[in-house]
Amino acid sequence: MNLKDINMLNKICGKDIIHVECPHITEKKFIAYCKRVRPLLFCITPANYQFVQAEFGLDGLTPEEFSETLTRIYKELKGVCQIQLHVHISQFPKRVPNKRKRELIENAYYFMKNKVGITPTKIVFGWFSYDEDCKKISEKLDLNIIENHFHIYDRDIKPLEN
Ligand SMILES: [Zn+2]
Repeated sequence: MNLKDINMLNKICGKDIIHVECPHITEKKFIAYCKRVRPLLFCITPANYQFVQAEFGLDGLTPEEFSETLTRIYKELKGVCQIQLHVHISQFPKRVPNKRKRELIENAYYFMKNKVGITPTKIVFGWFSYDEDCKKISEKLDLNIIENHFHIYDRDIKPLEN
């Protein structure tokens, strides 16, 4: 199946699972959608500040401000939707040092736990891409790795402008 067909299938079949990557931009429409549909959310965290900056831009938000923005949005949604983790390591995780993988996954986990007040039990890796190291780190935190599934993105709810 080609990429265009997969994207279309995701948009038809994936409406109740969202990979949340830029809620600092999509906030209003994203929150309204969540309150209406109550999807399962796999959420980006401040651990992926650099990824978000490269992919979507941060409008000058510092890491602290980005963290506060995510905390505020996820706290508003935590009684509405199930919130789990979304962590981008690399499309080539074997080339990333184990220490960095541990830092990304642990920072994401403890942000949810300590800042948002949710203990995550599931994790989806960006590009569904992970390796044995990521598996071991996740197991230690009691995180189940969720494999490829239909989903949409928060940016599908509010199409982004350039
Ligand atoms: Zn992603």
